[in-house]
Amino acid sequence: MANVSLKHIYKVYPNGTKAVNDFNMEIQDKEFIVFVGPSGCGKSTTLRMIAGLEDISAGELKIGDLIVNDMEPKDRDIAMVFQNYALYPHMTVYDNIAFGLRLRKLPKDEIHQKVLEAAEILGITEYLNKKPKEMSGGQRQRVALGRAIVREPKVMLLDEPLSNLDAKLRTQMRAEISKLHAKLKTTFIYVTHDQVEAMTMGTRIVVMKNGFVQQIDTPKNLYNYPANKFVAGFIGTPQMNFFEGTLLKKGDSVAIKFDNSEAEITVPYSMLYKAKPAYLDGNAKVYIGLRPEDATIANEGGALIKVKVSHKEELGSETLVYGDINLEGDGYGEGSTRIIIKDTGDKEYNSGDIITVALNLNRVHLFDKETEQSVLPRIPEYNYLDCEVKGGKLKFLGAELDLPEAAKCADLKGELLLPTDAITLNGSLKAEVVSCEKIGGVNLLALTLNGKRLYAVSPECVEAKSVNIGVDFKKITVISGGEKVVTPMPEVNGFACKFVKKKAVEEVEENGKTKKKKVIRFGFAVGDNFFEASEENSQKIFAALGIKKAFTAGLKMECGAYDLAVSEKGIAASVMETLDYGCEKFLKCKVGENTVFVKCEDEVKGDIHLLPDFGKVGVVETERDIKII
Ligand code: ADP
Repeated sequence: MANVSLKHIYKVYPNGTKAVNDFNMEIQDKEFIVFVGPSGCGKSTTLRMIAGLEDISAGELKIGDLIVNDMEPKDRDIAMVFQNYALYPHMTVYDNIAFGLRLRKLPKDEIHQKVLEAAEILGITEYLNKKPKEMSGGQRQRVALGRAIVREPKVMLLDEPLSNLDAKLRTQMRAEISKLHAKLKTTFIYVTHDQVEAMTMGTRIVVMKNGFVQQIDTPKNLYNYPANKFVAGFIGTPQMNFFEGTLLKKGDSVAIKFDNSEAEITVPYSMLYKAKPAYLDGNAKVYIGLRPEDATIANEGGALIKVKVSHKEELGSETLVYGDINLEGDGYGEGSTRIIIKDTGDKEYNSGDIITVALNLNRVHLFDKETEQSVLPRIPEYNYLDCEVKGGKLKFLGAELDLPEAAKCADLKGELLLPTDAITLNGSLKAEVVSCEKIGGVNLLALTLNGKRLYAVSPECVEAKSVNIGVDFKKITVISGGEKVVTPMPEVNGFACKFVKKKAVEEVEENGKTKKKKVIRFGFAVGDNFFEASEENSQKIFAALGIKKAFTAGLKMECGAYDLAVSEKGIAASVMETLDYGCEKFLKCKVGENTVFVKCEDEVKGDIHLLPDFGKVGVVETERDIKII
């Protein structure tokens, strides 16, 4: 039983293919995690790195409390089940299951006991004396599972174990693997390209595409809150309908207009509070997503649109009616006006019929046409607000705050980008709490300030009806006349650096005598400074870059403003100005070509030195853009 932790995991194959990019996930003990995505998305590579069958290019992999990057597969306490079973054909089922235990030299009667137990769990007791070739695919896969479970691994890894089975058997084995997971109470990580398998088995699912994680969430949340068009289209059958269109806000409602169609529906603006206002101008192109079950052939119960029927697919309990919202269109091709409707009624529809369809407005999804990201993210990054600055005061939503020195600007009218994580719960503005929703590890607070909506994220759940809020001014942006007049302080500082070795002579004690000895030290060179690297960090560099490239690769050291201290020695910097944000002060400095921000207690001027906190520093290889530390 174990947690599995993946931090900034990358895989770059020797031919340059970046198969896995910055994979981050904390898998809890006993979870059933499914990696899903189309062929080539990097799911098997990730699983094989966890198994130890593939080297990790960069990042840290932990099973339980142990870093296992360099540990042999056999020492990782994992068991793996493959698509092709990988059974020994000349051995009986019994011997196949017992094989690994015999290698580990377990006592005979203990092996016998474990084999019988596993066979019992998997319902293959009567086949123990048969050879694999006498068995069906499903039975063979059970033997492969049996061989894995007798090892009592901390983590079970399964790579497309059911894809060689026929559809009926797959459904049955799916249920059996879920049952096995419940019984064994072990962490399972399961790879499949089949979204139905993922949805029915996973406690959480990782959706991948082109080597990048798209979304990690429970099956329900993936279905209800897809973060982008890819996830929306990948999860659910038949696929979500995607139309192209625009959104136009008129007072308290928003018109959703479908391109190449007369269809137009109106939703209350409250449904789109989380959307960036730029989407609501009637010009910005969006994809309008609606699942086939959220369209009903009816004259009431939703926003009504006209559809021309093209064809249908009878599925017995329901019919998939294909049509077009462009009454001149044909509904056969996968165009942007094609609609699929899941119909459970018993009325017949013929090709060419014009029908009325009710769309369930509460279930409409919207995605940016270019980035394909959701226009309505579950946790919005910003509140987009009209604002005014007058006499050093910032006015927004009928409220007024003194701008601190560092964020002061001339009088203006413009737009305030107020990040949801820049709203603090200890200020002077009184806001009403509409709701507090736990999403992932944070709480999303829907607030109203003078009757207008504001979102904030908070580590704690807020149960009170009202809260006093403030603003962390170092995170805000103010735009006026197309110019960014106030900009946020960058969260991460970057310096160019190199990994170097340094020869030194040290005095060492040996047999009670002090001797001089030549030693080699590894470390990071920033300008003329040498910072000795910890053994762990040196190993990470060598593992990611190899011995030769470690000393030639261009690296970037990254650390936050709180992870740099003004010191007697260290990286030479010259202070450009002190930024006073009221409750906090920062130094804006030049380090070579880079501008760097440092937390400080008092105002400092002139030339200074900076010491990074190496417990918190990150290191990125610039050429391949890989986070090594
Ligand atoms: P999936 O399991 O999602 O189908 P893989 O993890 O097998 O995908 O592969 C991810 C990417 O890495 C693909 O582009 C594949 O072509 C590439 N790849 C896999 N193995 C190798 C290899 N040994 N050498 C080079 N490229 C590889």
